[in-house]
Amino acid sequence: MYSEDVQLQSILFFETPEEVFGRVFSELKPRTPRPAIRLEFCKFANANSFARWDEAGLAFRITDVLEGAPAQILEALAHILLSKLLRRPAPKTYNERYRRYLNRKEMRRSLQLVKQARGRKLVSSPQGNCYDLEAIFEELNVRYFHGLVARPVLGWSRKPSRTMLGHYDPSHNVIVLSSFLDRPSVERLVVEYVMFHEMLHLRFPVEHRGARRCVHTPEFKLAEKDFAGFTEAKAILKRICTVG
Ligand SMILES: [Zn+2]
Repeated sequence: MYSEDVQLQSILFFETPEEVFGRVFSELKPRTPRPAIRLEFCKFANANSFARWDEAGLAFRITDVLEGAPAQILEALAHILLSKLLRRPAPKTYNERYRRYLNRKEMRRSLQLVKQARGRKLVSSPQGNCYDLEAIFEELNVRYFHGLVARPVLGWSRKPSRTMLGHYDPSHNVIVLSSFLDRPSVERLVVEYVMFHEMLHLRFPVEHRGARRCVHTPEFKLAEKDFAGFTEAKAILKRICTVG
């Protein structure tokens, strides 16, 4: 039984992560002298890992959610990263072993937590040059939601985008408005409308209908029409986003 053999091996001959990666290198390049191996577990915001081969040897930067992972998993990752580096396909068994481990419930949970805690939030303060997003949020909350919407993190985007004017990110619980809207030439009504739209995303979570993700459900679209000045705001948006 192959897998029991491997387990027994790692109990009898304990290998450090560096040794696992070195052994896999020698399996893949039996005639090449084994280079020095540096391995570092890094606090990434996702499950990515990287390999580099330079004069100093082989360097691996591995997501720290795999720190303490069983030797078989590091072995699979070593095959995947080294195959990529050597430009050859990684054997299917290793790809599957690695993927199955990442897909385990506890693993998915810790990756989600890591993403929440470390994900780069490209957001600056809610107080912009022209408009204060907190003040706008609170006004709309009273006007349309009986003050019942719990305030998420609010911020202006660092880059002014005119294609993505607003965005609600449920994983960080943050509403971001494009700093493109934070200008005196943009009517307050428009900023209010985009904020109102994002607040509706808090109220109507994404629905999964079969394989389809339905973001703007019919209920969402109906509720959106409650916004006083809906037609006017839409018309202004169309103008400022299409004209230079
Ligand atoms: Zn939307």
